[in-house]
Amino acid sequence: MWARRLLRSLRAAPIVAALIAAHGDSRGEPAPADPPFMVVDLHVDLPWQVHFKGRSAALTEGHATLAGLVAGGYGGIVFPIYLPDSAHKDGSHIEDADAVFATIESLIAQHPLFLPLTARAAEPGRIASFLSIEGGGAFAADIPQIDRFIARGLRLVSPCHGKNSPLSSSATGARVDHGLTPLGKEFCERVYAHGALVDVSHVSDAAFADIAAIARAHGAPVVATHSNARAVAKQPRNLTDDQLRVIRDTGGVAGINLHAPFVNGSNEATVADVVAQVEHMVAVAGIDHVAVGSDFDGGIKVPEGLEDAAALPRLAAALRARGMSYDHVLQIFSLNALRVLGWRGGKQGAPDGG
Ligand SMILES: [Zn+2]
Repeated sequence: MWARRLLRSLRAAPIVAALIAAHGDSRGEPAPADPPFMVVDLHVDLPWQVHFKGRSAALTEGHATLAGLVAGGYGGIVFPIYLPDSAHKDGSHIEDADAVFATIESLIAQHPLFLPLTARAAEPGRIASFLSIEGGGAFAADIPQIDRFIARGLRLVSPCHGKNSPLSSSATGARVDHGLTPLGKEFCERVYAHGALVDVSHVSDAAFADIAAIARAHGAPVVATHSNARAVAKQPRNLTDDQLRVIRDTGGVAGINLHAPFVNGSNEATVADVVAQVEHMVAVAGIDHVAVGSDFDGGIKVPEGLEDAAALPRLAAALRARGMSYDHVLQIFSLNALRVLGWRGGKQGAPDGG
């Protein structure tokens, strides 16, 4: 099942195929010391830091510095266009998305470390760039505008952030009796129909169910870019075991989030706590359906020992020490994420039940 989907993603997305060819060939029996694990991180809030928080575009500070990404083994990174609920009195606007997109393009252009969004081939020592939108409520004003972003490389979009949006209720929003709004359903239908994915991180349980139904109709994987298991840390932002099984059944992934409260429910966490989250998510969803969505630079409280991107090999080592195979760690660190990033809809995205 997993291999078939991966093969489809190879045909659909040349950059994904190139990354797997460049780094996935190291699968097999580990040498005495494991070769480095390529990381493909589904959520790093660098653009937010640079666009809204005044961080230098030199990328020499914070959780995800250029040097840290290299040291951490990054081969791919998803840059979110985060649209804060507080951007304007009436929420965010579509032109905010254009402005953040321009910042992302500028960062990529300034730093040869990042491959352009349009790259079709991987290059040794460079990081493939992918695009998402976090908090897409602004698009309720003009839904077809999302097409422009999909055409420019958008892979994932979440219909809300921390508050309810005109598209969807939020996991942390005011209590309402709906999930997706009628506009939200129209929006998600359009996203899948155009070959991109809806990101269920931040949506309410009711919206998760609405999105899952639309995803299934499109043969699309349900993806939570940066969400953990609620059974381990009781937070509305985390996924129930039933939701993890929906992610499994649709071929999706949940990206492990390193924010301490989402890891263990407290303000401090350790590498062992992150390992416990990973092990629970793997036990419930299966090894094909857990990825990395660090939330680095998203204002998170990082675990002790996983303070920045450069520390990710420590998580790999901890999982190996717990007995996880080299191949399984590689799946979590990159291959599962690449599978869903390679989804382009249509016949090649048909579900096969795995
Ligand atoms: Zn988030």
